Amino acid sequence: MTTPRIEVDLSKIRHNTRCLVGRLKSRGINVTAVTKAVCGHPDIAIAMLDGGATGLADSRITNTRRLRDAGIKCPITMIRPPMLSQVDQIVQNCETSYNTEIDVIARLAAARRTKAVHNIILMVEMGDMREGIMPKDLEAIALQVLKMPGVALQGIGANFACLSGTVPDAATMAAFSALSHEIEVACGHALVTVSGGNSANLPWALGPRPTDRINDLRLGEAILLGVDPVSGDQIDGLYTDAFTLIAEVIETKVKPEPTHPSFVGPPLTASNILPDHDHGARSILSIGKQDTDIAGLTMPAGVTLVGATSDHLVVQTNQSQLCVGNELEFQLNYSALMRAMSAPDTAKVLHNEKQLPEPGPARRSNPCLELV
Ligand SMILES: *Cc1c(COP(=O)(O)O)cnc(C)c1O
Repeated sequence: MTTPRIEVDLSKIRHNTRCLVGRLKSRGINVTAVTKAVCGHPDIAIAMLDGGATGLADSRITNTRRLRDAGIKCPITMIRPPMLSQVDQIVQNCETSYNTEIDVIARLAAARRTKAVHNIILMVEMGDMREGIMPKDLEAIALQVLKMPGVALQGIGANFACLSGTVPDAATMAAFSALSHEIEVACGHALVTVSGGNSANLPWALGPRPTDRINDLRLGEAILLGVDPVSGDQIDGLYTDAFTLIAEVIETKVKPEPTHPSFVGPPLTASNILPDHDHGARSILSIGKQDTDIAGLTMPAGVTLVGATSDHLVVQTNQSQLCVGNELEFQLNYSALMRAMSAPDTAKVLHNEKQLPEPGPARRSNPCLELV
């Protein structure tokens, strides 16, 4: 079969979504499934919807268009604040968008549309210091949005653990919940959606504290990779191997210690080459930095990463030698997954296993993430 390829087990994605939807439902929280890491792949999106996600969200208009072109009719939310240059495409493809700039909202309100109104969720800055309106400015902006024809104030949202790694703790989430109450009272307008954050919010959402007004989470990584992005731990009962990257061996040789010519430019860094003292056989795989985040790959047992360049991945094997044409399988973290899914030379091969093995036992138990 063609390589490199990424094999996707849709049943595992459906299972992961269904587990998370079930656990969060008992806490009064809906799941909006985020498709950006898989470039809006329609079959993966459908697996998420089959697993019970109430809608889809993505950060790029090209991905949302791909979902629509595949005939997906569910609500789609743009989670990155829209570019002014894309407002027409936003209102044509997305029912809802997350916003922080009143000028953009005004342009969304005036944009050429296919749907009657476009829904606005105001993103609030709660500590991550990426996108968001400062809480003190929220009421004034909400009041302005309410006066604009063409848009409806759907709710508010927060985001955590992206830019500065701020983890959503109980106090911050309680403050965000209280803020939604204040806005409703001050504006005399009920907020339909109070979106608490992303996969990093799961320990809080499934923990003992009340979830109050928060009724939505936007989940990508937890569904796709079955892990808590903050700790890296497997989420109890979820599959961490829905995606496998497969690359092919193009050379195997025993090589001597590299000679040390003088380089023009910066010296080779650890990410380019690792010291190789035991002179095992080295193999080259036809995949490289252009195809994925090499540092985010898990090497198969008995295989050590030596280094990588744009198009070559060099590994060392100590026991059995790899032959030209052999395939090696790698598990991926979020960064490696995102880049592999967007690499044009990597085939995306979908499976739909009927009989799934039990998800492996939790690698490390995190009581917060167990069933409530
Ligand atoms: C990427 C993103 C998400 C999803 O994050 P995961 O960690 O993959 O769950 C949610 N909200 C916003 C605004 C995002 O940019």
